[in-house]
Amino acid sequence: MDGSQPDARALLSDVFGFDGFRPMQEDIVTAVAEGKDVLAILPTGGGKSLCFQLPALIRPGLTVVISPLIALMRDQVRALDEAGVAAGALTSGNTEEETAAVFDALHAGTLKLLYMAPERLASGGTDRLLAAAGVTLLAVDEAHCVSQWGHDFRPDYLRIGALRRALDVPLAAFTATADAETRGEIVARLFVGTEPRQFLGGFDRPNIHLAFAAKNKPREQILNFAAARKGQSGIVYCGTRAKTETLAAALCKAGQDAIAYHGGMEPERRREVERRFQTDDGLIVVATVAFGMGVDKPDIRWVAHADLPKSIEAYYQEIGRAGRDGAPAETLTLFGSDDIRFRRMQIDESPAPAERRMADHGRLNALLGLAEALKCRRVQLLGYFGEEHAPCGHCDTCERPPETFDGTEAVMKALSAILRTGENFGAGHLTDVLVGTLTDKVKQRGHDQLPTFGVGQDIDRRHWAAIFRQMMGHDLVRPDPARHGALRMTEAARPILRGEAAIELRKDALSTSRRRPEAKTLVSEEDAPLLSALKAKRRELAEAARAPAYVIFPDRTLIEMAETRPKTLDDIAGVSGVGAKKLDRYGRIFLDVITGETEAAPHPARRKLAGRAAGEIYDRLLAVQASLTRGEDGTGKPMSCSASLLAKVAALGPDAIDQIERLLGERLAARFGPAFAKVLAEG
Ligand code: ADP
Ligand code: ZN
Repeated sequence: MDGSQPDARALLSDVFGFDGFRPMQEDIVTAVAEGKDVLAILPTGGGKSLCFQLPALIRPGLTVVISPLIALMRDQVRALDEAGVAAGALTSGNTEEETAAVFDALHAGTLKLLYMAPERLASGGTDRLLAAAGVTLLAVDEAHCVSQWGHDFRPDYLRIGALRRALDVPLAAFTATADAETRGEIVARLFVGTEPRQFLGGFDRPNIHLAFAAKNKPREQILNFAAARKGQSGIVYCGTRAKTETLAAALCKAGQDAIAYHGGMEPERRREVERRFQTDDGLIVVATVAFGMGVDKPDIRWVAHADLPKSIEAYYQEIGRAGRDGAPAETLTLFGSDDIRFRRMQIDESPAPAERRMADHGRLNALLGLAEALKCRRVQLLGYFGEEHAPCGHCDTCERPPETFDGTEAVMKALSAILRTGENFGAGHLTDVLVGTLTDKVKQRGHDQLPTFGVGQDIDRRHWAAIFRQMMGHDLVRPDPARHGALRMTEAARPILRGEAAIELRKDALSTSRRRPEAKTLVSEEDAPLLSALKAKRRELAEAARAPAYVIFPDRTLIEMAETRPKTLDDIAGVSGVGAKKLDRYGRIFLDVITGETEAAPHPARRKLAGRAAGEIYDRLLAVQASLTRGEDGTGKPMSCSASLLAKVAALGPDAIDQIERLLGERLAARFGPAFAKVLAEG
């Protein structure tokens, strides 16, 4: 690049307020800025937008961005606007004034980025408009929409190839869909005749915590998970429409802000839910998988599956909606024997050709293997996508390695029960045979005469249920749809039956603890009140700007502010996500929240004491507190008392150490108690 071009790193920090690139971003930005044709595959949340926004600022002229996600485009334009970048969108969601403003800016040549929905390409005027607008770069988001075999196919994407030829500008295409087939289609249809430089980003989403749990009072499991994360935006995925309604109602009854969403709802109502989720902070949407493409909220803090997803790909995509902003996000996926049976049947009963059904069973098996994993889930998940990874330390199995036992003998007994009863029965009856329960059915069939009758007495029924579930999970047995879900042995089980292979099973899945999970906060207990205050301020600003909260500042930025407690505007400028423009607009406002009150205007609690002796004592308490904010040695966690608390202390008598402790509580008293008592004693 020649010296007159602005430096990418400088723009990254000045405009976007980031102090470093995410993996791959820098290489992609450089290639795109140099005018190379580029196809970049980055996982959701990998930071694709920056890969065309930054080059758009580096290159002269206008960058046109094609994207099918109207809500996302509008948010990005707003965010760019907040960052001081001239951007506009032409979508069906525009008001007439908005469209007129975009045209004016286009004619004046001031626009740097123009977002367009693909439908626009179909109208004849667009070619002429763009030809005259000085376009120097074409960026295509969600490039997989050009694939005719994908779920997101947009016919208008097929026009992009011709547009690029007409404009004769470089093309940068982005997607999170990585399979080789789709990649080939994108190259063939968008880049027609040229080979783009390809960038393949990793699949890992390190900020997402992974966890699975066997169903055990599943409604309670979901309610507990949500209760521990109250006030954080989340999605609960359910297998059926009816369940979305009942679970949403249960969550509301538990005091949560929750709302159902499924494909059977009126389109208008669905858009309303999407809109609320996008803008509100802390709403839970209980949805079927229909809640997908329309959602593009970067600050979803958790995703829970009330039922098992249909494949490992679906799982990855659904949990991947969490934590796009890079801040911590959590997931929990519930599964049970019924889920496995349901998903198997769904595949078996689908009209797809046999080969396809085989592949679908394979994808389900991969997910079940993940659910029953004995070691790091991330290693297993990424391994499926062909990536190697060291144990992550950030999943449930890393944190609490499951207890296991040698399940070979139990599995052999179960297989023998299955075979001796002609592969005609489900887990319930098989368990009766194994533990030796004389039911009518057992007597009728003469199964009490089998040599396997009662051989499994050493294991109780609940444990057998978990063993059968794990046998299904390891694909040793499958329910047969032709025989009402009777379990049949698969080839995979043969080595175990013959005594040639052993199998290790989880023990912990057999019992679950009753203890309620502790509240999960995004920051430590000390910083939580400040984070809430910062979020409240952000909500106020977002409502005034009629924009989603994250457009003002993403969660990560607020978390960093709460943890590092910047004291000056310079400090604030150093926080990730604070660019020059936002510093200008919001720096002071958030600084005031962090530092509590400004010296010029005393807190109302202090004003009330003005002129009284307590007023002077208050000021001395404040000074003592300031000297102890980080403890005696200046290395402790920052702590402070609220102004009204200090005013109460100031009003106490001279001999009040006990009362001080009661007022402040243990933690604050430990730090400030003795010093405050001294101030009071001095009068
Ligand atoms: P994608 O389109 O790949 O899903 P986005 O472009 O929406 O991801 O980016 C996800 C989030 O990451 C956004 O909140 C964005 O501001 C943030 N982000 C992108 N690049 C960086 C970076 N270099 N440093 C910090 N945050 C970043
Ligand atoms: Zn792990």
